[in-house]
Formats: sequence, C-alpha cells, structure tokens
Amino acid sequence: MIDFHCHIDLFPNPAEVISEAVKRGTYVLAVTTTPLAFEGNLQLIGDAKRIRVAVGLHPELVGERYREVDQVCDLMRRTRYVGEVGLDGSPAHRGSLPRQRDVLQRVLSECAQQGGKIISMHSRMATTAVLDEIERCGSLGIPILHWFSGNEDELQRAVDLGCWFSVGPSMLGGQKGRRLVSLMPTDRVIPETDGPFAKVNGKTLMPWDSEASIPILASLWGIEISEAAQKVKSNFLRLSV
Ligand code: MN
Repeated sequence: MIDFHCHIDLFPNPAEVISEAVKRGTYVLAVTTTPLAFEGNLQLIGDAKRIRVAVGLHPELVGERYREVDQVCDLMRRTRYVGEVGLDGSPAHRGSLPRQRDVLQRVLSECAQQGGKIISMHSRMATTAVLDEIERCGSLGIPILHWFSGNEDELQRAVDLGCWFSVGPSMLGGQKGRRLVSLMPTDRVIPETDGPFAKVNGKTLMPWDSEASIPILASLWGIEISEAAQKVKSNFLRLSV
C-alpha cells in the first residue's frame, strides 16, 4: 500500500508505526511540519525501506515560525520531497495569510529553481489562493494537493495546472469528497491517510489504512478493486521515477 501524506512522527509511538509499515511493505511519504522535524524524521526513519521524508513548514505554524522558511529552502537541497506546505484560510489561521503567502512563494520559487520536486500541499479554505501561487510559479515540479476540498471549478483549474491529488479514507467518507475524486483524472490520484490527524469512526488512520480507499476508488472509477490497486501503484511509480 501507499500513503503519500502521513505525519509519521506525530503518532505517540513513531518507532512502532515505522517498523509495522516496513513489515507490511507500505510506501510512506512522511511529511513534516517544521524544518527541525525534518531532521528528526531522517533520524527516526534511518534506512527504513520505502519511507521517504519531505521537508515542510505547515501553514498553521507559519504565523509563529515564518522565519524558518530559510532553513526549509536549505534543507530542500537534501530531498526531492517538499511538504507539508500551503495555505490555510480557516478562521483560526486567516490572520496569518499574508505571511503564509510570503512563505509559500519563497518555497515554491525555490522548488522551481532546484527542479524535480514533489510537493504535498495543504489548501484548506484557500484553494484559489494556492492555485494562484502554483500558477504564478510556472514549472515548479509536481504539486500534489492533499485532501482537496475546493469546488468543482477549482478542481478543474488544478487539473489544468498539472496538479495531482492525494486522497484518503476521511475524504472518501463524505459525499462531497467522493464527488470531487470522481472528477479527478484517474492517472493523477494517489492514496494518503493524513494520520494521525485523520480519523475514521473515531479511529486514527495508520499508514497502511490507505488500503481502505481502494474499494471506494474502484467503485467511483467503475473498475475492479484489483485494477484500482494497480492503477494507484502505477501512478505512484510514475511519480517516483
Ligand atoms: Mn497533513
């Protein structure tokens, strides 16, 4: 299985989660929320197979930690994976939007400069603003909108801008999420969990729980479950080359 957006270091027992993921053969993109956490994750994960670490600065933390963007840009030289970055326009974080935008512009222009980046992006209540930044940047690598929650016009614009989408059991649990996923190009969808933040029926999603998305994707795409599994695997392989 593949979990392309997971906060592996924020589980109460990261070492156990990592060894279980390795045992199960789960591919994980460990996104991080601060540059310090990137370093910590590299140590935590060591040489664990199939787990990669992204460097990020979560938009919810930018209000306090915007100065750390310099470190993010430096650390980006050590990985092709960037995230979690983006914008959050929800009431609690709206106040820091100007700063969030500055930070995102810095990060994305650094992505464009370094080239070849895969960027896991947050866009809660700020979809259009995130798409504006992606568009402004031109060729910045592959932006992956995680847990996309915009409207259908914004989705079409994201598709036209070349975005990919990481989708998980929480998003697919609701009618709006399923409708959006059904409109995404099937060759640009990749599983995620957003664990440990995301829960289904009160239960925290573990990286391997991204498996639960496959039957839902199969039914949205009108194909067999095994074909849907194949499809997301081949998407993942295209991303990884
Ligand atoms: Mn997240």
